[in-house]
Order: sequence, then structure tokens, then C-alpha cells
Amino acid sequence: MQFEELQLIDPILRAVRDEGYMAPTPIQAQAIPHVLAGRDLLGCAQTGTGKTAAFALPILQRLTVAPPAHHAHHVIRTLVLTPTRELAGQVGDSFAAYGRHTGLRHTVIFGGVNQNPQAQALHRGVDILVATPGRLLDLMGQNLVKLRGVEIFVLDEADRMLDMGFIPDVRRIVGTLPRERQTLFFSATLGPEIMRLAKDMVRDPVRVDVAPSATTVEAVEQRVYFVEKPDKRELLVRLLADPAISRALVFTRTKHGADRVAHHLHRAGIRSQSIHGNKSQGARERALDHFKSGGIRVLVATDVAARGLDIESVSHVFNFDLPAEPDVYVHRIGRTARAGAGGVAISFCDLEERILLHAIEKLIRKNLAPVDDNPLRSYIPPPRPTDVEPTRPRPQFGRGPQSARGRRL
Ligand code: AMP
Repeated sequence: MQFEELQLIDPILRAVRDEGYMAPTPIQAQAIPHVLAGRDLLGCAQTGTGKTAAFALPILQRLTVAPPAHHAHHVIRTLVLTPTRELAGQVGDSFAAYGRHTGLRHTVIFGGVNQNPQAQALHRGVDILVATPGRLLDLMGQNLVKLRGVEIFVLDEADRMLDMGFIPDVRRIVGTLPRERQTLFFSATLGPEIMRLAKDMVRDPVRVDVAPSATTVEAVEQRVYFVEKPDKRELLVRLLADPAISRALVFTRTKHGADRVAHHLHRAGIRSQSIHGNKSQGARERALDHFKSGGIRVLVATDVAARGLDIESVSHVFNFDLPAEPDVYVHRIGRTARAGAGGVAISFCDLEERILLHAIEKLIRKNLAPVDDNPLRSYIPPPRPTDVEPTRPRPQFGRGPQSARGRRL
């Protein structure tokens, strides 16, 4: 599949070429024709799959080829809501890059900074607004932004919006949008709560699923340690003694858990930090910079904090706690083995987590072999089939070759 086959107009194709993209990623190939045709979309995809271009390219094209429905100067025609300012910034940069030959105007608004420059940009008039919910509501409350001309609405990372408690804000904003509109709804997972939200926002959507590809999962060497819960931290310290572990991402279920693990590692002389939603923006960025520059070897994160982070060359992913949703396991271990390089994923499984392990094994269709030289072996009986509830159907893994996915993958 080539971009030329997607019926994109010349200014968009030129921008795509300027970016050096060779071929559409699977989500782009699947989503772009439907978005161009005006359909609503329910996209199950995480950051890194090329999902921003999957919505930005056809939106730019629709706005370019169709004259505005309203003739007023200050009509915002597309609204994109994102949970964080970083993502808002990235999405804004993408619209700037992909829209450079279209003449369309966009701006990005988010909290934590002076609102005046944002209000001025809105006053000058934009076609596309990328915003985080809190600041948008603030500006709406001051009558500085009007959404009655919105033709296309994008909700990006809906699951993260949910994790961060933004759903009431999102619902308030969506309540002010015209009912006649196109809605593109994206989420890395589509659990029951997300599906309820989606149902209220999209009409007869096309569904597009792009989970990490099976090749990603296969390229990762996966091991499991059966360990008693109180022994997990000590086991992690012992395993991290291996110098082959050059850069490790450790996932915990809770924010406090992340702090406790990072603290324990620190006391054991292992350079590490934690990132999670309770940390300030600055603290998270510093930790990430340290990790990327090699100043710390271990980053302990919750799923929410790690989502959307572009962390390259992680040699090992540790599942300190197994995730409650099996597909989260696939997302986590996809962090290693990027760009076709093999990586290692090590999971700790305590007695209560056996059932979670079983669900993961069912999803990835292989059993994880327990490690023989477990220094802290405990007797954890294997799960019995009767313990296991039926799992959800296996998500569709990526369909294209690995090389067709995002450049940073
Ligand atoms: P996203 O999932 O939107 O965050 O995109 C992930 C990365 O993939 C970004 O750095 C994009 O610039 C890049 N990307 C998006 N589409 C393509 C493509 N078709 N070919 C190569 N890289 C792409």
C-alpha cells in the first residue's frame, strides 16, 4: 500500500513525502479512507502506531477541499482533545508538519502556562484547535472559544482521559459541540467504561484495531518468575545485578508501588527513579531525561505514566506486577524489541496473579516457562483451568510488515 493509493490530495502527499514516510502504517491504511469518506471512527491504537497522521492527514484534506459550513472568520472547524500537554504539543506539531502546504491554521492550548498567548491565537482565528480539557473549559467559560462550528471532533487517548479523571470535563465539552459532526475516537484499550463513553459520542463508527504486531511479541524473550509478593523487590535487586540489563523499565500496578520499588532499588545502590501521575510535570520530565541519557538505569513506572512516552532502546521490561488486562502485557513488552531488535521481558507472578498470567498466556498463545535458577523460588502452584474465566477475544495484531510501522518503532 502506498500513500498515493489513499486518494490524498497533492498538498498532503507532498507533506508526507517531506516527512520521509515511505508507506502508510497499518492504522493509516485502514483509517484514512473512512475518515475521508466522513465516517465516525473507533480506533484501538496506542501512540507509536502512526495514529496521529491517521486522523490528521484526512482531517487536513477534508478541511482543505470543503469550504467551511459557517462563513464567520473565527470558526474552529476541528477540535482535538488530548489528555496531556505533551501529547497536545505533539499533535499540534503533526498538524503543522502535515498541513504545511494547506494554509490551514491551528493552535494548541493547555494548562499550566499563561493563557494570554493562547487567547490571542484563538482571537486571530484557527481552523484546528488542539486542547487539553481543563484549559479549554476555562477559556470557554471566559467566552474566548466557540465550538459551534466544529465539523470534526477527535478524542485522543480516551483511556488515559479516563485514568486521569477527565471524563466529566470531556462530556461537558462534547455537550457543546454540534450534533451533526464527524467523531474520531481513539483509545489504547477498549474496556467497558471506554465503550460506554464511545457509544455516547460516535455514530455508526468504523472500528479499527491495531495492537502491537505479533512479530513484536515474538521478538521478545519472555520469562516468568514465580515469587511470593513480599520477595519481589529483593528478586528485582538480584536480577538487576546482571550487567546485561543496560536499561530497564519496571512496571508496577500503583503509584505507591512505583515509589516503593524505586526507593528500594535506590537503597540497594541501583540508580533508579519512578514516574507516575502524582509527580509534577517537571519531575517526570527530569526522570525521563535521566533515563534516556543513561544517568539512571532503571525507570519504575505505572502504565498510565509510561503510555505515550517515546523511550528507545530499553533492554529489559520487568512486569513487577502483572497487569489486570492481558493486552496491557503486550503493550508493555512491546517497549523492548523496538526496530526489530530482540529484548527481554521478565514477569513476576505471585499467588494471586496466577490467574492474570493464565489470561496473558491465552492471549499470546504460549506458556511462559518459569525460570529454573530462581534465587527466591517459592511454591506457587500452577493455575488450574477451572480458576480461569473466559478471556476476551484475541485482539488483531498489526497486519503489515514491521518496517511499515512508525519510524521510531
Ligand atoms: P504516533 O503514533 O502518531 O505518535 O506516531 C509515531 C511516529 O511515527 C511519529 O514519529 C511519526 O512521525 C511516525 N510516523 C507516522 N506515520 C508514519 C509513516 N507512515 N511512516 C513512517 N513514520 C511514520
